[in-house]
Amino acid sequence: MAKLEILTYPNPILREVSEPVKEFGPDLKKFAADMLETMYESNGIGLAAIQVGQPIRMLVIDTRPKDEKSGRYNYDELSELENKIKQPLIMINPEIINGEGKITYDEGCLSVPSFFETVERFEKIEVKAFDVDGKEFRVVTDGLLAICIQHEMDHLEGTLFIDHISFTKSNRIKNQIKKNGYPTKEELEERKSKLKEPSRA
Ligand code: ZN
Repeated sequence: MAKLEILTYPNPILREVSEPVKEFGPDLKKFAADMLETMYESNGIGLAAIQVGQPIRMLVIDTRPKDEKSGRYNYDELSELENKIKQPLIMINPEIINGEGKITYDEGCLSVPSFFETVERFEKIEVKAFDVDGKEFRVVTDGLLAICIQHEMDHLEGTLFIDHISFTKSNRIKNQIKKNGYPTKEELEERKSKLKEPSRA
């Protein structure tokens, strides 16, 4: 396995619309494993293929809360629906069949590191997708998993979470990044000590 490089905004590749996966085979499986490794090593909860420069409709997700000391997953924090879904989840050519309710969450993104903004999503979704073997499956979920799936699926259309917030706020963030880049590790450490960092997808 190999850790891949994660592209960050304003890299224009992140704006590409990803193409459906047509060939399922060992290369795709290896790529999925590399994506998972990249996501875990970056402390992310989701990653779309385009974020590592591959414009294909594929994403990996693991929203299970992990206890840092014991390394165990805390399944009590997940909803009943979330607990029914085996994670990590690899979704290929995903399609939202049904979405209901509204929920807001402070989202972040491995491609827009250190920024967090409140985004509104469907509270509960039904998604159709294919696994790495090309077998179709369906997922009905809510909670963080539903939010994360919607966030990752946006990447397949070239959309970022900072496109969902108010025009003024969005422009402020985009201009700040274009002008000053992202904060350094030292600056982040300093900020981290002041507030708890939410999950990144
Ligand atoms: Zn993202």
